[in-house]
Amino acid sequence: MSNESMKIPQATAKRLPLYYRFLNSLHSSGKQRVSSAELSEAVKVDSATIRRDFSYFGALGKKGYGYNVNYLLSFFRKTLDQDELTKVALIGVGNLGTAFLNYNFLKNNNTKIAVAFDVIEEKVGTKIGEVPVYHMDDLEEVIEKEDIQVAILTVPAPVAQSITDRMVQGSVRGILNFTPARLTVPSSIRVHHIDLAIELQSLVYFLKHYSMDEEMV
Ligand code: ATP
Repeated sequence: MSNESMKIPQATAKRLPLYYRFLNSLHSSGKQRVSSAELSEAVKVDSATIRRDFSYFGALGKKGYGYNVNYLLSFFRKTLDQDELTKVALIGVGNLGTAFLNYNFLKNNNTKIAVAFDVIEEKVGTKIGEVPVYHMDDLEEVIEKEDIQVAILTVPAPVAQSITDRMVQGSVRGILNFTPARLTVPSSIRVHHIDLAIELQSLVYFLKHYSMDEEMV
């Protein structure tokens, strides 16, 4: 990451991929400029937040003109390292893991699941969505050889921590954790936790207890 991007607040950084995806589609359709109101409508982020976010990138929209799509795109490409491929490992080729291997984030051109791991002999040695499945015994060796930087965890919760401990010894710097386990990692490792069951429950809870026009704090 460049020094420039280090100064961006985390909340802004998290919205970058959202902006990037929309601007890319604008660019493909030949559009040269976009207003913060248009962006706001498309990505569902309020326009004041968009203006503040963009001010961190040195992109100051002009009244009546909006933002230059090409400028923003080249900025995002640099900041998100879109030109550099990040290789991802998937651990646990169960139902969810298999779905990810078939999906393989093909629309993102900077991330790709390159290898997968499991303990079940019948799965080891096969390919799912062109991704080879290795045995967990070979985890450290393959991660090092393939220079894997990110791992997706779709294993049963009780084994998540011990697998994490093994991975962070190597090149892995980020973990997308789909297990309900809360992981303990060294401060240099970043974990993003996605618990689909909790997300679903919380959505249902909000539907039942809050109306849409009520302020949610
Ligand atoms: P999912 O939860 O993804 O829908 P599932 O219900 O099919 O999967 P789980 O029991 O959650 O199965 O296991 C997910 C996958 O993790 C399985 O393929 C299983 O073989 C694998 N797995 C279990 N233990 C380990 C381990 N220690 N290391 C790597 N993979 C493991």
